Order: sequence, then C-alpha cells, then structure tokens
Amino acid sequence: MKIGIPRALLYYQYYPMWKHFFEELGAEVVVSPHTTRVILSSGISRVVADTCLPAKAYMGHVMSLVGKCDCVFIPAIRSLKAKVFNCSKFLGLPDMTRAVVPECPPILSIDVDMNKGEKELWREIDRLGRHFTRNHSKVRQAAMSAWQKHLEYCRLMVEEGLTPPQALERMFGLEAEPEGKGASKEKALPTADASGQAHIAVIGHPYILYDHHVSHRLINWLQQHNIRVHTPEMLAAEAIDSGIGRLVGQSYWTYEYEVVGAGGHYLEHDVDGVIGLVAFGCGPDSLMMDMVRRHSALPGAAAFMNLTLEEHTAEAGIVTRLEAFVDMVRRKKRRKETCA
Ligand code: SF4
Repeated sequence: MKIGIPRALLYYQYYPMWKHFFEELGAEVVVSPHTTRVILSSGISRVVADTCLPAKAYMGHVMSLVGKCDCVFIPAIRSLKAKVFNCSKFLGLPDMTRAVVPECPPILSIDVDMNKGEKELWREIDRLGRHFTRNHSKVRQAAMSAWQKHLEYCRLMVEEGLTPPQALERMFGLEAEPEGKGASKEKALPTADASGQAHIAVIGHPYILYDHHVSHRLINWLQQHNIRVHTPEMLAAEAIDSGIGRLVGQSYWTYEYEVVGAGGHYLEHDVDGVIGLVAFGCGPDSLMMDMVRRHSALPGAAAFMNLTLEEHTAEAGIVTRLEAFVDMVRRKKRRKETCA
C-alpha cells in the first residue's frame, strides 16, 4: 500500500515517526513536493478566504497527492496533554479535507486525544495498524520503534542545533531545497561587527518557519546575512516549560508551546533579537504572540518583531522589515558591547 503524507502542517513535527511506523508495517510512503505557488493556489481555491494560510497550503498538498498514492494519512490530533487542546483545524482535519477535496484518496486517520488516556491511544494505534496487519504485537512493536525514531529526530535538533529540515536531511537525505526565490539570492549585508555575530531567534509553528514558500525563506535570508539563527526546536523541554511559566503560567493550546515557550526563553536568553512569524487568520497565534510582544517591552528583554504572513504577502516587504530589524539589532548589540 502506498501512503501519501502531505508536506504541510504536522509534517515537520512527526514525519520520521509516521514514515517509520508505516514502513515497519510494510507500506510505502510518498510525500508531496515542496510548497509552490500552484500548490498553494489550488488549496486556496477550495476553502473559504478566512481559513489560515497553513490550512490552505495543506489542502493544496493533499490535492497534489491525488493519483500518486492509495490513501492519504491525515491524523486528527486533538490533545497531547490533559486539558490542553489543539486548534480546531487540527481537530477536524480529516473531515475538512474530505469535504473540500472530494477527489482525495481514502483517508487513513487516527484520533489522538490524551484526555481519554493512554489506553484509548493504544486502541487508536491498533485501529490504524489493522489496515496493514491483524497482528497486534506487530503494530505495537512498530509504534514503539516509531517513537524511538521520533526521539532520535528530537535529539538531533536539541543536541546538535539542527532545524527540522536539516535533521530530516541528516536522517533521510530528502530535504534538499528547490532553487529559491529572490530573498535567498540577495547579497549579504556588510557585517557591522566582525567579532560578534548577531543571534536572532525565529519563533512560530514549524509549518510556517520551514515552508520556504510560506515563509519566503526568511531563515535562509538571515543565515546569508551572517546571523546565527535559533529556533524553538533547538530548545530542551525544560527551557520551553520555563518560558511558558514566565509568560502565561500554562499553555492553552497544544501547538502554542513552540511560540510562547520559545518566546519566553529567547526574550531573556541566548539571542539579541526575536522574530515572531504568524499566519493571518490564526486565532491562537494572534493571542499568544501578543503575550510574547508584551513581554518584550520589559527592561532587558531582546528586541522583538512580529511578521504576519498571508498569501498576498510580498517578499519585498518582508526583506525591507528584516533589513531594518537586523540593522537595529546589530547597533544595539554594538552599543551594549562598547558599554560593557
Ligand atoms: S494553529 Fe493557527 S496556523 Fe496553525 S492550523 Fe490552527 S489556525 Fe492555522
């Protein structure tokens, strides 16, 4: 059986685990291509205008898998921790896809809701595995070994400071980037301070940060301009937890961890500036990124800039704001070093 996995939404969080699980059960995994204008436009054509940008891109990725696989894996991840819930797009992802992409191949799904307990999760894993084998212990073994793969993936990011695309490249050699758009080809700005490289953290959901089309290759642009980039995945769970504790006390939405936790940490440690990337139309981000912005006004916090992305965002506008922000961060850093 050929299983299609859209290269969008939770792909950068769980791809190694999903791939390993299906392959252990004898299936072949096919991934949709990197996001392009055509993929995004086809997704946009199927959903209402105020759907968030990543969900639009996701529908385009599902459409690009039509005819290339026997079924598409679309999990419904409701909650990963008791009383912390996911955004409604994730809750209804399989149903939403069925409704807007009727030509989608059969959907393989799993309901992940930790509020129902671990037993129910195993029942769901068994139900998913039954599409491939009736042998329960084989499914259980595949799930355990897939979890180990996930831990290995997380270790690469935390211990070696790799971004998800770099970790995927290390593990599978599959993330080679397509030749990009203008921003990546810009000439490097002269480095204001040759001795001290500026450090900037980019916070947001992985499906925004690492999707080159959606983010306009913002991370590449910073790296090419001699900035050391830090991302949420490079932080250990304790740093994220204490960042959340400082900003909001507890997280309300499952995948806001990386936004608030990393924001809380980076505003006070390791970096000279923080850039928050949010998608237009995202309810949780609009609240949580604002918490980060408010915290950045406290004395001693790193400089902060928020960028909202949508399908009409022009790359030139992003580059202009990046240039101004990087310039300001470098001046501030130089001043601090001179005073010290
Ligand atoms: S968290 Fe925001 S960006 Fe992500 S799927 Fe939900 S609405 Fe969209």
